[in-house]
Amino acid sequence: MQSPLAGQKAIVTGASSGIGRAVAIAMGRAGADVLVNFVSSPDAAEQVARQIRASGSKAIVYKADVSNESEVAEMFAHARAEFGTVDILVANAGLQQDAAFTEMTLAQWNKVISVNLGGQFLCAREAVKEFRRRGVVANVSKAAGKIICMSSVHQVIPWGGHVNYAASKGGIDLLMRSLAQEVAPERIRVNSIAPGAIRTPINRDAWETPEAYKRLMTLIPYGRIGEPEDIGKAAVWLASDESDYVVGTTLFVDGGMTLYPGFSDNG
Ligand code: NAD
Repeated sequence: MQSPLAGQKAIVTGASSGIGRAVAIAMGRAGADVLVNFVSSPDAAEQVARQIRASGSKAIVYKADVSNESEVAEMFAHARAEFGTVDILVANAGLQQDAAFTEMTLAQWNKVISVNLGGQFLCAREAVKEFRRRGVVANVSKAAGKIICMSSVHQVIPWGGHVNYAASKGGIDLLMRSLAQEVAPERIRVNSIAPGAIRTPINRDAWETPEAYKRLMTLIPYGRIGEPEDIGKAAVWLASDESDYVVGTTLFVDGGMTLYPGFSDNG
């Protein structure tokens, strides 16, 4: 299928860099019009929008902090005003504020939980309201709407020194599955993608030097780092009718990182 998302409207949060950027561009190429959300880099967001327009889809950039209730509501209102509706939400925005456990401040804990988990709640809530208002539209999609939560392998792999981040991603798993159960009867599909190590600014320390890359490879059976485009392709599939019977699941895109590679030679 050439344009699996033709006629659909998407919001991608945190789309000015890394995975969100690649997802927004891939969705534009797949035929969706895209609202490119950013919080701090308008120029980078505009560059993403330009790439989407070059592929023939519409794109708008919109500044909003996903942890701010009114800004999220205004972002959805803006998307409706510009595009008429929203068919796809990719709740991707996220951050890390790492610290050893007893050094971690309450501010670091709260920031990561409110952006990574609270932001997904606020964006998904607005998306469900819009999907419910509009319902299924024949010839656009079999579903009334699709939500893709950007989780992480750290929804299952514990991560010392990053308890706020791991807790936020573990929380996304049950947020996603509980919501999926609640809204599936309305033909709203909610799923997650759990990336492994993807080459983006968030984890530069893990891949930038040859030594760091070699160390990283001990964790990845498939023997390469993931690229943002690997996640873009997965997101297009999860948003399309090709995955219409996929409801409430997490798609791990991790080169096998969750296969316990430390046990590959008898532990
Ligand atoms: P990134 O830092 O390039 O992207 C994160 C984006 O979120 C940035 O554009 C940032 O500006 C935005 N953002 C942060 N706070 C925001 C807020 N309050 N409101 C709106 N936007 C905000 O890193 P990335 O790797 O592309 O991360 C994207 C998502 O993928 C995150 O949820 C991250 O946890 C997840 N993830 C990344 C990896 C990886 O290896 N890169 C692995 C697993 C999961």
